[in-house]
Order: sequence, then structure tokens, then C-alpha cells
Amino acid sequence: MGAPRCPECNKFCSLEMEEPELDSCEADEGVLYVNVRLLKNCADCGTEVREAYLELEIPFVLPDHDEDDDMTFEIEEEPVLENEEKCIGKGRYMRTEHGVSGTARVKCMIDSKSDSKETVIEVPITIEDGTEAAGNFEDTY
Ligand SMILES: [Zn+2]
Repeated sequence: MGAPRCPECNKFCSLEMEEPELDSCEADEGVLYVNVRLLKNCADCGTEVREAYLELEIPFVLPDHDEDDDMTFEIEEEPVLENEEKCIGKGRYMRTEHGVSGTARVKCMIDSKSDSKETVIEVPITIEDGTEAAGNFEDTY
């Protein structure tokens, strides 16, 4: 893929990262699934030029429970995501990796024979949970 070209301005342009879009956020037993769309916009007019998708699976620690308890999970609060990036390698082999950070709140409902309780677990999302290389972004048009 060559230099980015903006379909609106119809010229080569510089790109800037747009706010990440949260596609979906679900929790299951001990895993948070987060799908994110990363966007690069034309720095001149704001048109979306390139995009990439992150599919993150983030393990979290379950609250205390007995083995035969019933557990259900619900997203209490979706994460507000911010762009993160890191550089890997050196010199002309250096590449930029894009990821996100934020915090999701997962409500865990535990039903045991004697009682039921709810716990809210904060699950941090960091760039270490997954990235996409800048070179893997694809044209949106
Ligand atoms: Zn443009």
C-alpha cells in the first residue's frame, strides 16, 4: 500500500488517528471480549481514509464462588477507549503498532443454593492486550 490518498480532497494527505469506535463488548466466564474499529482520518478534511479492527480477549479474575454456583455476566459500563501506540524495532525496521486503553466494568451475578450476590469487576484494557500494525490499516473506500 502506498501513500494515503484522501477520496474527498483527492490528493495525498497526512492522516491522524480518530477516536476508536467500540463495536462490541461482551463478558463471559473470566473473559472480556472487546471489538474495536480503529480509524485514520484525513488531517485536512476529516474524511475516514483507513481503518483496522482489533479483536481483544482480556482475561479477568473471577470473584470467590463455589464450583456449582451459577454465574452470569453483564457489561455494567462499556469502556471509554483511547488510542495508544508503541514503536517496535529500530531505524528503518521500526514500525508503529496501534492499540487502545480503557476500563470496562463487568457485573458478575453469582447464584448459589443459599443466596445470590453481585460483584462488579473492573477490567483494564491496555495496549498489551492487542495491537494492529500501522501498515495493516486498509483503505475505507
Ligand atoms: Zn481530505
